[in-house]
Amino acid sequence: MTAAVLSGRELAAAIKSETAAEAARLSAAGTAPTLAVVVATADESSAWYVRSIARATEQVGIACDVVDLGQEATGPEIRRTLDALSADDRVHGIILQTPLPPGVDAQEMALAIRFDKDVDGANPLSLGRLAAGLSAFAPATAEAVVRILEHHGVDLAGRHVAVVGRSTVVGKPAAHLLLDRNATVTVCHSRTRDLAAVTSAADVVVAAAGRIGLITADHVAPGAVVVDVGTNPTEDGGLVGDVDAASVGEKAGALTPVPGGVGPVTTALLLAHTVQAASALRRA
Ligand code: NAD
Repeated sequence: MTAAVLSGRELAAAIKSETAAEAARLSAAGTAPTLAVVVATADESSAWYVRSIARATEQVGIACDVVDLGQEATGPEIRRTLDALSADDRVHGIILQTPLPPGVDAQEMALAIRFDKDVDGANPLSLGRLAAGLSAFAPATAEAVVRILEHHGVDLAGRHVAVVGRSTVVGKPAAHLLLDRNATVTVCHSRTRDLAAVTSAADVVVAAAGRIGLITADHVAPGAVVVDVGTNPTEDGGLVGDVDAASVGEKAGALTPVPGGVGPVTTALLLAHTVQAASALRRA
């Protein structure tokens, strides 16, 4: 592998340590930052993720309330829970964990998350505000893409960035954040013709498709910077990205690892957003 490894661990540690200091300051002043995580699934990878968030909140001094409604929860029940948490002065951040029960639409539900408590940018209102250049919490993963590039000194202004994936949690918000940094952004998706031709014309490739090995050496220009957002479980219990690191690592200039790249920064930003929300709500 000749590409530089753009780790997210050091940046995540720095964000967590700033967040812990701010959480301690707020707690001492009588506001204990609190994150509520609403769960309505028995999905094992979701349970693993919720446990990892709970551990991370504990490390930085944020309280975490997991509200488990069970996999039979209905849309109205989930909405009522989100309404109640939105109105609860003790709660500063709200995450609605997916998947949701069949027939329950995550975006419809997320409309019930008060936007200034929407620390993972799940409410469509947050995406709209982000697109309009108004203040809003971006989905933590999308923000992690930009923060990891900035942390490693990758200049985005005027550069061509190809984002592979157009979901509302990663691809679209990442494209808006990159545009805000003056990048020239192309958003690719499952219907894009000749993906390799588009991505290999880019200075930076952001892979967020959830497809193991989608991005190979044929998809990147020599020396390009590649951000691998994919977190795809393997049969042996491991985790791999969307990028074929073996071949891309020989051609790209830099590559984020999986695990240890975007993932840890995402978690750290969720914590940071919760403390920012607590601070803003306290002043309000
Ligand atoms: P999604 O399934 O909602 O969206 C996938 C997107 O990729 C779609 O827009 C689709 O059009 C596009 N796509 C699929 N196949 C393609 C192909 N062959 N060519 C081009 N585009 C293609 O997924 P998502 O929720 O946006 O997540 C994407 C990946 O990011 C997943 O692996 C997910 O696990 C990972 N993820 C990681 C984190 C993290 O913290 N690191 C957080 C969220 C998501």
